[in-house]
Amino acid sequence: MSYSKYLKDTNLVGGKWISADSGETIDVTNPATGDVIGTIPNCGGAETSRAIDAAAAAFPGLASMGLMDRLDLLWKLHDALLDNRDTLAELLTVEQGKPLFEAKGEITIGAAYVRWFAEEARRAKGEIVPAPGGDRRILVTKHPIGVVGMITPWNFPSSMLARKIAPALAVGCTVVAKPATATPYSGLAWGALCEEVGFPSGSVNIVTGSARKIGGAIMEDARVRKLTFTGSTEVGKELIRQSADTVKKVSMELGGNAPFIVFDDADIDKAVQGAIVSKFRNAGQTCVCANRIYVQAGVYDEFVEKLIVETKKMKVGNGLEDGVEQGPMIDMDAVEKVEEFVADATSKGGEVALGGARHDNGQSFFEPTIITQATQDMMFAKEEIFGPIAPVFKFEKEEEAIAWANDTEFGLASYAYTRDIGRIWRLNDQLQYGMIGINSGLITTVEAPFGGVKDSGLGKEGGSQGLEDYLEVKYTAVDF
Ligand code: ADP
Repeated sequence: MSYSKYLKDTNLVGGKWISADSGETIDVTNPATGDVIGTIPNCGGAETSRAIDAAAAAFPGLASMGLMDRLDLLWKLHDALLDNRDTLAELLTVEQGKPLFEAKGEITIGAAYVRWFAEEARRAKGEIVPAPGGDRRILVTKHPIGVVGMITPWNFPSSMLARKIAPALAVGCTVVAKPATATPYSGLAWGALCEEVGFPSGSVNIVTGSARKIGGAIMEDARVRKLTFTGSTEVGKELIRQSADTVKKVSMELGGNAPFIVFDDADIDKAVQGAIVSKFRNAGQTCVCANRIYVQAGVYDEFVEKLIVETKKMKVGNGLEDGVEQGPMIDMDAVEKVEEFVADATSKGGEVALGGARHDNGQSFFEPTIITQATQDMMFAKEEIFGPIAPVFKFEKEEEAIAWANDTEFGLASYAYTRDIGRIWRLNDQLQYGMIGINSGLITTVEAPFGGVKDSGLGKEGGSQGLEDYLEVKYTAVDF
């Protein structure tokens, strides 16, 4: 198989590819077939501490390397990602399940993050601020924060690391990363690529295994100055608590519960296309997926009808097959969870307008599903679905839609379709979300700050803000 070059069954610690001290391994399976595609080391605290030793030792060298020398390495990394895009995408699909075109898109955006941060790092400027009096100069300078711990989830195993590794390396921080156990190979591939393009040993360390032990070792070590996490709100909150003892800086990309609002004046065909992309991408397993589709009464029937027609066209299957638009869910627990959402909705008056059950393909495949007559007392009004279920709610007035949209502890992405310019500004003011897509269901881009408010997180990834998160501000007073 072409991807075997990047299927690393060992961990990268201090420039060496190692097994777990215990020799234990964990199987990694392809969710589309159930086949074991390889094993990874089951590492814990000891190996992680050695990874932190290596990252701490490599930090002064990487931080003081000439800026353009360091950025040249990032450009090589960018090129290596694109040169190996098809191979890396295949590996991603095999371990994660998403359709190959989505996997290629993920590698491409990962390379774009590397390029963006290589460009942004040249503009990480400080300031000279006027002093209040006397012969003084006030210098404000920016410095790499130090060793950064990274913990990432299984749904975007490559690009979630891209947003963290790229800004870290661009400013001279070194890395200890723990990819998700279900999808470790795309994470390990970052280690292999960084090594291949010539980053000094210890700059990037990748450890797999026990989340609690690896996470624990990262959190309790004072040399790790920042933790960047993407995953569930529950684990994120636990990590914020754990960060207190060493006063680490934290960035948190946590859960979402995105509202997708379609107003009477919307371009309905465009809204349907946007809803499909936003809802069914990665089989509904993204933190920015439309979770609650609110449609104004005047266009409700038309929207539902068109959504059913378009959703029916989606081909479900193994992501490696041509034309497949929806792959399997990550595992059977995920399938059981979406079944719970369907059962809850139907018990409260929801109607299954399409799908609603496991797919004939077996494994963890689930049918693209539309539930109409959704109401605010149903489970998906409060919780993130993380699966291919589109609940469609009916609303009458703008204020009602905004109030429902905000009635959640989450605040990551939100979407609205309307052509009313005044309403667009009201939505901008009133939607309590870190990201708002107006007339678009796909808004992630390297140039913009990705991140949430409320229980959806802290900090931003991408944009110029995504670099600042890896820099510490220092103030120097100089009297003369
Ligand atoms: P998801 O539902 O996306 O898998 P999780 O929060 O469970 O979200 O997992 C995201 C990442 O956090 C994974 O790499 C997982 O192994 C890791 N993780 C889970 N529990 C802990 C923990 N207690 N400490 C540190 N990392 C953890």
